[in-house]
Amino acid sequence: MDVRVSDVRKWAGREEFTRVVEPWPHECQARVEFPLINPADVRVRVRNTGGALVVEVSGEAECQAQCARCLEPFGLRVPFSAVEEFREEPGPSDPNGDYSRFTGDRLVLDDLVADAVGLGLPMVSVCSPQCRGLCPQCGVNWNQAPCECVPWPDDRLAGLRALLPPDRT
Ligand SMILES: [Zn+2]
Ligand SMILES: [Zn+2]
Repeated sequence: MDVRVSDVRKWAGREEFTRVVEPWPHECQARVEFPLINPADVRVRVRNTGGALVVEVSGEAECQAQCARCLEPFGLRVPFSAVEEFREEPGPSDPNGDYSRFTGDRLVLDDLVADAVGLGLPMVSVCSPQCRGLCPQCGVNWNQAPCECVPWPDDRLAGLRALLPPDRT
């Protein structure tokens, strides 16, 4: 995934907007535990600040996720955005550096977009904040049906109960 900067790199102060729609680079899929669906659709803003090109990417990824509570599949939307400075210098970019390098007329955005999507992922993927999850005793999906199980009285399981949605504790 890349953008052409042949014009914007020539003049300080110049700014360009682009939209890149193409299959997800494998760097992105490598960051996401679930399969990404739909092609990537990334808005790109490139600003020439004089010494560098400042690149902003944003968009929304969607993947075929599995709910951590009820285990049902669902479409997880992952909004993402990131900003990176690119300087025209030879050689590969230093992964720990303050900026990325480029030469020529194209900026490669794979790593920038992959980082942004990775940071946009939720800590826990649930189909809905209200998801009731599965009964830990009989396995019934509480979103679909209640069950007759009696909650554990055992305090050793209090830690487990703390993981359940609030209305089940
Ligand atoms: Zn769920
Ligand atoms: Zn049950």
